[in-house]
Amino acid sequence: MDYLLLGAKKNLIKNLRKKGICDEQVLAAFDKIDRHLFMDSFLWDKAYEDMALHINCGQTISQPSTVAFQTQLLQVKPGEKVLEIGTGSGFQAAILGALGARVFSIERHLELFSKAKNLLAQINEKIIVHFGDGFQGYERYAPFDKIIVTCGAPEIPQKLFRQLKVGGLMVIPVGIDSQVMKRITKIDEENFKEESFGNYNFVPMLEDRMKDSKTVF
Ligand code: SAH
Repeated sequence: MDYLLLGAKKNLIKNLRKKGICDEQVLAAFDKIDRHLFMDSFLWDKAYEDMALHINCGQTISQPSTVAFQTQLLQVKPGEKVLEIGTGSGFQAAILGALGARVFSIERHLELFSKAKNLLAQINEKIIVHFGDGFQGYERYAPFDKIIVTCGAPEIPQKLFRQLKVGGLMVIPVGIDSQVMKRITKIDEENFKEESFGNYNFVPMLEDRMKDSKTVF
């Protein structure tokens, strides 16, 4: 890795600590995964700044401190089955993979899905990327220990709640124009505990048809 990028990465990790990320496993995952690989090379000089950056299809790779915070809230343990909604660039999925999770990630944009799938195959061949609608979850691999949503959800999607194990956690930004970060703990099939962790701005979780749904996977 280029020494300038390496320096920038070490600096980012220091900044994440300052911003309250204290889970050493999460910080180690940020050290392990090269964020610049998840964007076009003309953006590399900003890859380790704490900012969201544009990827294709009008979408963004989330701000590193947001990825770190959501990941910390998720309390991932090695071997757990984790479902991510909104693969985007694939960076969050790679971070979850670096924590030893069995990662399943869903994206509705065909172009982003294909790109992330190819990239993640080189970084961690165990991560499963699925072209589909996140509101449907991933019945085939359910139930999940953890679910992380990386787009702004209008409410807690019923099917995702159903696909979460009892005792499992879901970290999800809820809201239309801006979102409140929520952590849901599933108590039983009907009940959950809800905690709130501040305001965020995510691209929306969209319920309409998938983009380019003529392709069959
Ligand atoms: N986790 C990503 C950030 C993604 S931005 C990363 O690390 O780069 C949010 C993503 O959610 C976008 O790529 C968007 O296309 C996707 N998305 C929005 N609604 C969706 C839905 N219903 N199902 C699956 N993906 C969705």
